[in-house]
Amino acid sequence: MTQTQEYTADLPLAPKPSADRSVFDHKDLRDDDYWRAIPAYADLSAGEFHDHRFQSRNSITSLKKLRGVLGPLVGEAFYKDVEQGLALSPMSLRISPYLVGLIDWREPETDPLRIQFLPMGSRMLPDHPELALDSLHEQEDSPVPGLTHRYADRALFLTLDTCPVYCRFCTRSYAVGLDTEEVEKVHFGALAERWERVFDYIESRPELEDIVISGGDVANLKAEHIEYIGRRLLAIEHVRRMRYATKAPAIMPQKIVTDTAWVDALAGVVAEGRKLHKEVVLHTHFNHPREITEISRRGLNGLMERGIWVRNQTVLQRGVNDEVDTMQLLTRRLSYVNVHPYYTFVHDMVRGVEELRTTLATAQELEKEVRGRTAGFNTPTFVLDTMGGGGKRNVHSHEYYDRETGIAVFTSPAVRPGQHFFYFDPLDELDPAIARKWADPAERAAMIAAARTAATSS
Ligand SMILES: *Cc1c(COP(=O)(O)O)cnc(C)c1O
Ligand code: SF4
Repeated sequence: MTQTQEYTADLPLAPKPSADRSVFDHKDLRDDDYWRAIPAYADLSAGEFHDHRFQSRNSITSLKKLRGVLGPLVGEAFYKDVEQGLALSPMSLRISPYLVGLIDWREPETDPLRIQFLPMGSRMLPDHPELALDSLHEQEDSPVPGLTHRYADRALFLTLDTCPVYCRFCTRSYAVGLDTEEVEKVHFGALAERWERVFDYIESRPELEDIVISGGDVANLKAEHIEYIGRRLLAIEHVRRMRYATKAPAIMPQKIVTDTAWVDALAGVVAEGRKLHKEVVLHTHFNHPREITEISRRGLNGLMERGIWVRNQTVLQRGVNDEVDTMQLLTRRLSYVNVHPYYTFVHDMVRGVEELRTTLATAQELEKEVRGRTAGFNTPTFVLDTMGGGGKRNVHSHEYYDRETGIAVFTSPAVRPGQHFFYFDPLDELDPAIARKWADPAERAAMIAAARTAATSS
C-alpha cells in the first residue's frame, strides 16, 4: 500500500476533465404515464397498463384496431399510408400497446419505433434485384423441421412460429406470423411431435454443444413448455449451453414483470443448468434506446435477481439506429440495465424493407465509434449474416468491398469453405448512374462477376 502511494506520488498527474452531462443520458429512463396520450389507454392506471395479459390481449393486429386505439391522434393521410404499406408488406402486423404508447405520434414518419413495426407505403423502396426471401437459407440447413444446423457445434431450434409482435425486418418472414396476402408461409405443424424429432436429432449429434431456442419467440411458449424444452435439452449430456430467444423484454417488458409463471419456469431451467455446470441465458433484441424504460429496468432487475443473464442482438436499421449517438446510447443503456450487447447485425436482405437497410460502410463506421466507449464485454460485435448460408461474418472481414457498386464479398472458412458470399448496399445509397446499371441484368451480372474475380485474387 505504502509502496503504491510512493510510486504514484512520483508520477506526473494528468487530471481527467469532468464528464459532460450527456454522458449520463443512458440513466435517464422514461417513467411517466406516456400511454395516457393514446385515446384508448387514457384512463388506464400503471397497474393496468403494465400487465402482460393486457398487453397481449390488446396487441394491434390490423389497421382497424390501430384506428380504434389512436383515433384522431393521427390524420387520415397517415392511415392511408399505412394501409398502402401493409398491402406491400410480407410480414403480418402485430404491435404491443407498450410500443404504441412509446411512439411519438406527432411525427410517426421518422419515429424509430414506428419504422420498425408499422410500414408506411410512401416511405418504402423497391427491393434490391439480388434479394431473396429466405435470404439466410435456414431451410437448406434444416435436417429436421424446425431445426437449423449450420455451424458445427450449435443449432437453432425454431420452437414455434409466432411472436408477441412482428418486426418488419424479420429474416424469418418465410416462417413466422399469420398468413398475409403476400407470403404463403411454411407451417411447422403440431408442436410437441415436431419437437421430439428435434430432440432426437440433437441427441444423435454429439458435436452439438449449444442450442439457440428461438421461434418465432419463446415468449409465446407456455411456462410448462419453457420448462419441458429446457429440461429435455439439459438432460442431453453433450448440450453445454442454451439460449432462449425472446424479444419480450424490448417490446413487452410487462411479460417479465407480471408473468411470474413464465419467469419462474425460466429461472428453474437456469438453476438446474447451473447445478449441471451448463450455461442457460436469455437472448433479447433491443434496437433503440427509447425501448428501454423504467418498466424494462424493473423486469430486467427481476431477471438479474434470479441469476438470469441477458444478452442483446440489435438489427441495424436506417432511420432507427444508424446514427453514432443512438448506437452509443443504446449500448450504454443496455449495459446500465445489465443486458450485454452481443451482436449488432447488418440488416439482412429481406423483402419489403429496402428503406431500412444500410450500407456495409455505415456498419463499419458505427463499429469504430462504438468500440472503446464502454467495457469490451458490453461492446457488440458488428456482424453480417451472409445470404446463402455462410453464417455470420465480422463487418470488417470482407475479402472485397467496392463502395461505388455497393458489392461486398465475404468468405466463411468455418461454415462453407471455398465459397463466396455477397452483400449488396441499398441502391438508393449509390451514385444514381451506378444504381441505374443495377437495373440491367447483363450489367448486374458483369459487376458481380468482377467483384468475385477481385475477391479471389486479393
Ligand atoms: C446465429 C446462429 C447461431 C448462433 O451463432 P452465434 O454466433 O454463436 O450466436 C446458430 N445457428 C444459426 C443458424 C444461426 O443463424
Ligand atoms: S420477434 Fe424475432 S422472429 Fe419474431 S418477428 Fe421479430 S425478429 Fe422475427
